[in-house]
Amino acid sequence: MPSLQSTSRGPAIESLLPILKAAVLVALFEGIHIARHEFLMGDWASHSVLDGFRAVAWVAGLHVVLWLFLGLLFSLLSRDPFTLFRAVFSVWALVAFLARWMFEDGSGATAYELLLLTGLVLWLTPRRWWARVSPSFRLGLACFALLIVSTFSLWGRVPDFSHPLGEQFWLYAGSAVVAIAACLVLFRWPRLTAGALAACLLSTTLWNSLSRTPTADKPNVLWILIDTTRRDHVSPFGDLAETPAIERLAAEGIRFDDAVTVIPKTTQSVASFFTGSYPFHHGLRTLTDELKDSPNNVVKLFQEAGYRTAAFVNNPWLSKDHGFGLGFERYDSTTELDEKYGGSLRYVSWFILADRLTVKRIETSEATKPGVYVAHDRSVTDAVSRYLRNIAREPFFIYAHYFQPHWPYLPPALLEEKYGAPAGATCLVNFPERAGITQGQLVFDNHLPDEENEGARRLYRGDIDDTMSQVGRLLEELERQGFRDDTIIVFTADHGHSLGDHDYYFHHGEFLYESSVRIPLILSWPQKLPVGMVVEHQVRSIDLAPTLLALARIPHPGAMDGRSLAGFWEGREDQPRAAFLESDVKMMEENTRRTYWGVMGKLRGVRDGRFKLILTPDTDGPRFELYDVVADPEETQNLVLDPGQKETLASLQKQLTELLPKEERGILSALRGEPDEAGKQSGQPVDEHDRELLRSLGYIN
Ligand SMILES: [Zn+2]
Repeated sequence: MPSLQSTSRGPAIESLLPILKAAVLVALFEGIHIARHEFLMGDWASHSVLDGFRAVAWVAGLHVVLWLFLGLLFSLLSRDPFTLFRAVFSVWALVAFLARWMFEDGSGATAYELLLLTGLVLWLTPRRWWARVSPSFRLGLACFALLIVSTFSLWGRVPDFSHPLGEQFWLYAGSAVVAIAACLVLFRWPRLTAGALAACLLSTTLWNSLSRTPTADKPNVLWILIDTTRRDHVSPFGDLAETPAIERLAAEGIRFDDAVTVIPKTTQSVASFFTGSYPFHHGLRTLTDELKDSPNNVVKLFQEAGYRTAAFVNNPWLSKDHGFGLGFERYDSTTELDEKYGGSLRYVSWFILADRLTVKRIETSEATKPGVYVAHDRSVTDAVSRYLRNIAREPFFIYAHYFQPHWPYLPPALLEEKYGAPAGATCLVNFPERAGITQGQLVFDNHLPDEENEGARRLYRGDIDDTMSQVGRLLEELERQGFRDDTIIVFTADHGHSLGDHDYYFHHGEFLYESSVRIPLILSWPQKLPVGMVVEHQVRSIDLAPTLLALARIPHPGAMDGRSLAGFWEGREDQPRAAFLESDVKMMEENTRRTYWGVMGKLRGVRDGRFKLILTPDTDGPRFELYDVVADPEETQNLVLDPGQKETLASLQKQLTELLPKEERGILSALRGEPDEAGKQSGQPVDEHDRELLRSLGYIN
């Protein structure tokens, strides 16, 4: 009789019940994993608890539906759903593994090696052995394998137990206890299931501890660069925003109080950072130019010295297409970053849905223009954190580029109260078209009401605050992973930002005033470098590459314009570091203060820490501005005609001429007459995608 009853219910229903049990189990696990992830990432602080529960509920619900559907499908397709499952699972593991190697440089592939192994075991175990095992247990085991898949997919790595007393250990241990308890209730072979679970966790622990090699004499490098960050908005340097994480970092290292970028525009500036060279030497002169290979590229030199090199870049200009992937073993740029937020999440697509629920405002905001995709800076911290937890071999060289302070200003909702716009402001700065003006008019001919401009300044402060708290999270993760002592941390910006200074609003690159040229710079490696030191001398962005190479004892084959900063803590710094400055090319018609388009029409300058000379090519020959930046940091008094500064002027003019490359010295003074159309063409990108990108970031109309 029992066999008859079984036949009448059919194989489909019989297979469905254990699948349902397993679905509940897996859903429970995913909920725990998400909670753990959110807890460790500190995301509860920036999202409502309701958001978190909603995300957990979504994932759990999706699991139940998905596995019920698959179970039903397998049962309908075959009288032996397990065989079908085995095939699907193995193919999935193989594809995921290959994809990891092909598209992500093998990072995190170890998790998939274990998956492949599981698939192999499923195939190699003799069929008659499976026949002796009850269907419920077989499916239980299958779901256990799936649990491992989803676990690794979520964590994006082999679990790390190298810090047994850290939070991670207890969360893993907690998960394991819940897993074993659930298995006891749900499956008939609890000891086997629990044993398998324990064996798996143990093997991954061993794997991880064996594969991580300690740093010998080579320090790791974590280079953090924040786009568009004014020095006076970073709290150890100025007081316009509160950035406690950076204050802590400065207290643990050297703060360079008078650091300048040699060019206030992203790609050119980053190229100067990477090569220790002025733009006319590395050759990247406009935003759309490509970074060419050079023997002094610091990333390449670190890679050749045996470093693992990785970049996590939230700025669409710094793409592999523009040559910035050079020397990086792994390069996550903004267009891929959010996809990779969650490491291997792309292979477990339902998680991506959960991520969408804790989504960033910038993605949904109408200010995000078509053609550009900028992630929230949280993604940068998440991606670097994952990389740090995943890394199996030191030393590493990591470049993390944050972007949020850039126009348009969109701090998260929580910060709106703290930095919200004044009453009556409608955020017109983010939407100039609503005010009936062009982007160029917003920047160069701004007649918006005061509360609108002031509101935008406050939102910019909110963006800074938010990004710096993301940097804080990254520094905590570095500490948590035990890398702090062996890692040189660099904190800096590619350039500042003009918020209306010199009638130049919410932009950077077209002029060489202090707001755009001065940058925050901190270097921290408590093991070897002084702690709490402040350097007041002027230093330049080009000095960083030679400094890092010197600290890691890596020689550079060619001459660099920059010089190592080691002299400051070794007590032998005696030569001044004059900075040659160069603006970007003219990008907008509305900038009537500049005549010439193209590279020749760029502003040039020299700054010695006390005085700054700026040369603007004009139809009547070069125009000069001279400022005492110490006595007059807002640059209100042009001292060119001041008889008392005649010698300073002559000396700086001479220095500027000497710093300029030979081929540009003559042309600059000879540049007279009408603005040239040819120059205009050379300064503007021809590519439609690049034009769209420029428009989205407020650089052209
Ligand atoms: Zn930038």
